[in-house]
Amino acid sequence: MSMRLSPQEWLNQERVVRGFSGASQIDRKWIDQIVSKVPLEDQQTTRDIWLSRIGKTVGEIHDEQMEQYKERFKLTLSDDERKVADECYFGILPTREFNAYAGKTPWGDRVVILHEALTHIVAIWCHWYTRSSEEGGNTLNTEERQHMMLKYFVQVWNEVPVSSQLPDIYPSTKEQWSYSETLAIACMNFVMGHEIGHVIHNHKGYSNIREANHLMEYQADEKGMEICIKMFLSLASSGMNDDADAYLLAPLMFVGIISLFGDKSSNTHPSATMRKEKIQKNMSKMLKFGEKKEFDKHLLMLFSEVEQMFLILSGYASEVKVLMSEYTRPNNSWLQSMLKTNEG
Ligand SMILES: [Zn+2]
Repeated sequence: MSMRLSPQEWLNQERVVRGFSGASQIDRKWIDQIVSKVPLEDQQTTRDIWLSRIGKTVGEIHDEQMEQYKERFKLTLSDDERKVADECYFGILPTREFNAYAGKTPWGDRVVILHEALTHIVAIWCHWYTRSSEEGGNTLNTEERQHMMLKYFVQVWNEVPVSSQLPDIYPSTKEQWSYSETLAIACMNFVMGHEIGHVIHNHKGYSNIREANHLMEYQADEKGMEICIKMFLSLASSGMNDDADAYLLAPLMFVGIISLFGDKSSNTHPSATMRKEKIQKNMSKMLKFGEKKEFDKHLLMLFSEVEQMFLILSGYASEVKVLMSEYTRPNNSWLQSMLKTNEG
């Protein structure tokens, strides 16, 4: 093998090899569209952020985004976890996977790779969900809007350009926007926590033994959940109750989104419903369910919200399947083969 590369050098080399090193497609027209969706008072800041990205390569923009995710994510870690996270390289690839990987470079360094489509779908679903709750949980889900949204998801997933086909699913007030963004960040914390969980547990890739694979996934989910609960406790103790709740909802919301693409177990992963049940069980334990009546009530309300959400999401699965059959999935098998070992 050629000379030893650091994880960052290696990722940059892979970006060149895979054709991801060109300038991004961001232009002023596209920025106008994005800016028009955010509340008026945030438009200038949003515009400045995006203007500063014009002409940068896709890789540079992804590295910037990852720095932002990491900054928030680190707040949720204990000292020991932070040490593991600091020694692990986090990167983003512009790929259409609703997935993330913990893996090793060919030289054995630990890396976590997130896929762009994952962050995209999480953000859009959080907006949609928040707006839908705003409208009483039903009105947004008219068949036409639902169909447009699902089509949008499937197009993101299949690398079809989607710029102007997004229906009006954005939160309508500044408070709801802020909640939706917190929810998306909380989901990202869960995902990054899940992946760093694989690293902390020193998992060594999947085998043919389904139970052993599923056990690794439950351990990783538990780490992601723990990190979200710490964030919940810290926000709740400073009176930020809505933001705190977003961190309780996020782990369950994330596994819920997976059920959009089917709720079946695979050789590597338990089904979304199995993961949901395990997370709820561990969450109740960690939050000492049964000791404080008021809080128990609150947690049960949250779980019933999750049940509703799962019903909605798994109800969409058959339509997603039909829509998926209209496209050819991009072949991303190189993603796993470039890593020495990996867990998703
Ligand atoms: Zn995993």
